[in-house]
Amino acid sequence: MSKTSSLKISHPEILGGISGFLCFIGAFLPWVTASIVHVDGVDGDGKFTLLFSLIALGLLYLGINRTKKNWTNMGIILMGVLIAFIGLNVSNNIAAIETTSSFVATKVGTGTYLTIVGGIGLVFSALWNQKLESKKKSSLICWACRKKIPHDEQYHEWGDGAIICNDCFKIYEQDEDKILAKIEEYEKNKDLK
Ligand SMILES: [Zn+2]
Repeated sequence: MSKTSSLKISHPEILGGISGFLCFIGAFLPWVTASIVHVDGVDGDGKFTLLFSLIALGLLYLGINRTKKNWTNMGIILMGVLIAFIGLNVSNNIAAIETTSSFVATKVGTGTYLTIVGGIGLVFSALWNQKLESKKKSSLICWACRKKIPHDEQYHEWGDGAIICNDCFKIYEQDEDKILAKIEEYEKNKDLK
């Protein structure tokens, strides 16, 4: 077992990154196509979804490795809702044109679909991340002394999910083996359950 300080990116954060990226590239793709001409997202409302996707990606980056992700998750949800709303609005407007004009085939472009999917993905990823966070908070128990760690107290994490309290960390710095043995014992007991 070794202590690690690398970035811990969760599955919802990976989903959030992919979703944000979809919104980003979606803005540069056609949103509306009519016969041989098309309008790219950035020529219209895509300017906003482009900006919102960058804000969402920025918040996602800020949230990684933070113990408190509430406000970054809320921000990502807001950005996702706005992006999906803009995308759905465009596709609704085009659907209305499609039914009223019979001579020009106006269609929803790839960019609009990517924007809608990405926006919904952003919302879903942040909700999922928030759920993981609250789960993590309710189960903050020191793996060495089994003490429940208060939310405002500092704790130390190992790469594989082990958490130890500040007191145990101080002991760890003086006598590594003592704490590591306790953590190993805890892990063994966990597997038996
Ligand atoms: Zn402890």
